[in-house]
Amino acid sequence: MSQKGTINVAVENIFPLIKKFLYSDHEIFLRELVSNATDATLKLQHLARIGEASVELGDQQIEIKIDKEGKKLHIIDQGLGMTEDEVQKYINEVAFSGAEEFLEKYKDTAKDSGIIGHFGLGFYSAFMVADQVEIITKSFKDEPAVHWTCDGSPNYTIEPAEKENFGTEIILHISDDETEFLEESRITELLNKYNKFMPVPIKFGTKTETLEKPEGAKEEDPAPTQEVDNIINNPDPAWTKQPAELEDQDYKNFYRELYPMQFEEPLFNIHLNVDYPFNLTGILYFPKMTQDLNVQKDRIQLYQNQVYVTDNVEGIVPEFLTMLRGVIDSPDIPLNVSRSYLQADGAVKKISSYITRKVADKLKSLFNEDRKAFEEKWNDIKIVIEYGMLSEEKFFDKADKFALYPTVDGTYHLWDELLEKIKPAQTDKDGKTVILYASNKEEQHSYTTAAKKKGYEVLLLDSPIISHLMQKLETSKENISFVRVDADHVDNLIKKEEEQISKLSDEEKETLQKTITETIADTSYTVQVEAMSSDAAPFMITQPEFM
Ligand code: ADP
Ligand code: MG
Repeated sequence: MSQKGTINVAVENIFPLIKKFLYSDHEIFLRELVSNATDATLKLQHLARIGEASVELGDQQIEIKIDKEGKKLHIIDQGLGMTEDEVQKYINEVAFSGAEEFLEKYKDTAKDSGIIGHFGLGFYSAFMVADQVEIITKSFKDEPAVHWTCDGSPNYTIEPAEKENFGTEIILHISDDETEFLEESRITELLNKYNKFMPVPIKFGTKTETLEKPEGAKEEDPAPTQEVDNIINNPDPAWTKQPAELEDQDYKNFYRELYPMQFEEPLFNIHLNVDYPFNLTGILYFPKMTQDLNVQKDRIQLYQNQVYVTDNVEGIVPEFLTMLRGVIDSPDIPLNVSRSYLQADGAVKKISSYITRKVADKLKSLFNEDRKAFEEKWNDIKIVIEYGMLSEEKFFDKADKFALYPTVDGTYHLWDELLEKIKPAQTDKDGKTVILYASNKEEQHSYTTAAKKKGYEVLLLDSPIISHLMQKLETSKENISFVRVDADHVDNLIKKEEEQISKLSDEEKETLQKTITETIADTSYTVQVEAMSSDAAPFMITQPEFM
């Protein structure tokens, strides 16, 4: 018998509101429906495992089908299904009140760009793209199948249906202005974006597989082929496994799976795995840092229970680590809140500091395990580490165990090693240890040579943010001062050990000085003739450090 009813909802017609508020994010309907299908499948598996469902499960999968002519999209699962009562309860009551509550709660802020664009509106997000939605469902409990139809008004019909096997089929009658969701390429794109690592196999069409040629086949015989299900996802991605189960190559393969267009190998990875006081798994990769890091593309991806949420992890991962790549998966990150709320949230703060600590620990152990290899990677990772030292106090404190200070000659010192080495010769009369550095090896070559001749160590500090880090080190560490090797006052710090023997007469010097000064024609430069020891350059032009 067919029944009609009115969905119990305070807002007279909720669908225009759904469309309006979620306008920019229509595509998430598919993520929501596939999530529901996955939940239904996993629930049934669980019930079977604990003996509450006696059904033959087989290889359960989810299928997505496009019916272009009928303008329909089907999402079919072999999950636990729903009885008529359950449709009444979960679809007609709960889901609607959930949607209503959502709109009540966010009606003022929903359009703020600060809000993460995914609300988990669930089943009803189907109405963002469909004028009519049907559910054909049969519970694993031996009850008749049910057919529910709703045309986008609060009115629905519910009637008995013919369905042989348990599970649910959702049929979306795609509306005329959403026909992109009837295109195979668009659906493939969405499945790849949101569902690539979901835990139940998802079938979308078939593909042709080439088989081995049979024994004795001729050269010109075509290899046989067969049609197989096109499964779009990997239900067991690397981050869901234990680190002990994975080899180095598995991590590299997963990187390729995540970023098919990245041809460069990652430098190393960090496997995150914690279940108390919050739940978080993931794998982070240190890519080779080039100056033109493409920060838009290939960023860290955030998942919740293997469902893709976003690749904007700002506020969740400390900023200096947003340059990394990889995946984090945590059901404990609140998503339907603004960024500023997120940053103040206790759980999120804990997650962020856990990630920072794990990264610091990993760097320390890489350094300890193979110092030589770590030194070789330094140039490619220093920006992240220096940025971390600048911006995260806890990271700064830990960094003494792995942050390196390279010399112009390619020796790498830890902070303590550096001080120990230079203290005897480079501590001035006020007790300050002077750290000499070059910011450009070639340009400051003659100064460096002169300083080294006097037995001083010269660092090569050339990353874009190093000047800020030096300031921080000067205020955090005691009695040290960084001085650029060509700074105006280096001469005062460097004790002159050799008397300079001039090769030029006073007159010659004066002429040379004048000629050069005139040639440069810029009064911000200082010209000194024979400023340095005899075998260095005959004159020196200094430029103030900060112009
Ligand atoms: P949520 O998934 O957050 O519970 P939804 O609005 O997505 O909210 O779904 C509401 C409810 O409808 C689900 O909790 C579930 O009980 C039921 N449901 C939705 N889709 C299916 C499905 N494919 N199979 C079985 N039950 C479903
Ligand atoms: Mg849902």
